Amino acid sequence: MYTTPYINGAAIEAPLSAFADVVNPANRRPFAKVLMARPEHMRKAIDAAHEAKDAWGNSLAAERELVLQNAAAVLESARQEVVDLLIDEAGSTFGKAQFEVSFTVNMLRAVSGEARRINGSVIPADIPGMMSIAIRRPLGVVAGIAPFNFPFLLATKKVCLALAAGNTFVLKPSEETSLVGLKIAEIFQKAGLPAGVLNVVPGDGPTVGPVLFTDPRVRLISFTGSTAVGHLIAVECAKNKKKAVLELGGKSPLVVLKDADLDYAVSTACFGVFIHQGQICMAGSRIIVEAPIYDAFLQRFVAKAKTLKVGDPRDPHTVIGPLIRSSQCDLIDGKINESVAAGARLLLGGTHEGNFYHPTVLADVKPGMPAFRDELFGPVAAVVKADDADHALKLANETAYGLSSAVLTNDLQLAMRFAMQLEAGMVHINGPTVHDEATVPFGGMKDSGNGREGGHWSMDELTETKWITIQMGRRPYPF
Ligand code: NAD
Repeated sequence: MYTTPYINGAAIEAPLSAFADVVNPANRRPFAKVLMARPEHMRKAIDAAHEAKDAWGNSLAAERELVLQNAAAVLESARQEVVDLLIDEAGSTFGKAQFEVSFTVNMLRAVSGEARRINGSVIPADIPGMMSIAIRRPLGVVAGIAPFNFPFLLATKKVCLALAAGNTFVLKPSEETSLVGLKIAEIFQKAGLPAGVLNVVPGDGPTVGPVLFTDPRVRLISFTGSTAVGHLIAVECAKNKKKAVLELGGKSPLVVLKDADLDYAVSTACFGVFIHQGQICMAGSRIIVEAPIYDAFLQRFVAKAKTLKVGDPRDPHTVIGPLIRSSQCDLIDGKINESVAAGARLLLGGTHEGNFYHPTVLADVKPGMPAFRDELFGPVAAVVKADDADHALKLANETAYGLSSAVLTNDLQLAMRFAMQLEAGMVHINGPTVHDEATVPFGGMKDSGNGREGGHWSMDELTETKWITIQMGRRPYPF
């Protein structure tokens, strides 16, 4: 297994003293070491990706398709190693880690076909005898900066979409999940990807990020992470005339209308807010419930949240594993205390042991409270009472974010009104806010970012449209 940056098809040499500890979030103990890159490593990775871009960019779609399909097969045989890393390095529970690998296998297969579907168009020309066409060409070198929460799935998504489009890639995984990032390099190498096409450079964002922003050979930065860092990257990309695809934070609403089935609503809410201990951009962390069913919902929701097993992430029955770092527990404590001081009622949780934060339910949460406004990235449900459906819609949109959203109702007219008027990139009717597939337009609006990641929407982002004309016969000129 690689533990140093993977550049041009090989690990790099470095003295042991240069390596940093990799810490298991469940017991806060170091269990491995990894070399955190310096700016010169990042430059070398861009050199390698630039060197490889013409051959890969001119490869047949069938070759790119095959590499992605091989990667799916290699991953299936390496499932246990990846699951172990996702548990030990990223604090995933057993179930979440298995899901992440299964999703990624399926995604690699689905995206392999995108290589063959990068279509152009024929445009009716204004000049007699002219054929006018638009084709799509790869951008060249694309860089990806990935977060810690679904470190394998989200980083592999960026890699496979860019490779399918014929780009070469430099990946900077989260500094908290470097080993997972390097595993992606190993899988693609075994899948037969030529050297230099994928380079993985673990490192501290502010240390190595600026190399990606300022090097003109990097044509697009595909970023998934917090809104604060996304804002910085948007500014740097604008300054350096680079494209940016930004998948950022969220504070997604799950709206429960009065005709919803209560038990289904409780299960949907629990899944959406507590999966991966709430460390999901799409977490349904604002649960907006219509007044007539508010008390009954709260009672059943708290009862179910109490049953969720907290603890050993390797136990298949565990739902709530550790948060990624202890400072996150302190941050959540502070936001809960502020919300309670502003009038919210703490019905469950609000405590933690080590990095294990207990499922927490806050009731009577109102706009302006931190639990309503801020992304807490922990297992904290903010339950909000709405007078009626109009009020629920207004509350749902009262946020700077716009990633995912959901509404539970059997009233088709109302459901479609919510679907059209919710200010979010994704709306799920009668399902949770947490949902992703390989070939859908995943992404947000407002402070949740721009651009879409998935299927042909990514092919649009990851290619340059080129206009080509062919003059048949002689074209008449005015002089
Ligand atoms: P983060 O923003 O702290 O870090 C994300 C990545 O950015 C990491 O690789 C980090 O090293 C890098 N980074 C940090 N500062 C940088 C800089 N100055 N220059 C270059 N790179 C820099 O986010 P995180 O804590 O890893 O992940 C949690 C956040 O990600 C949440 O806000 C969550 O909502 C968001 N997220 C969004 C999506 C989505 O699809 N919209 C998916 C997952 C996570």
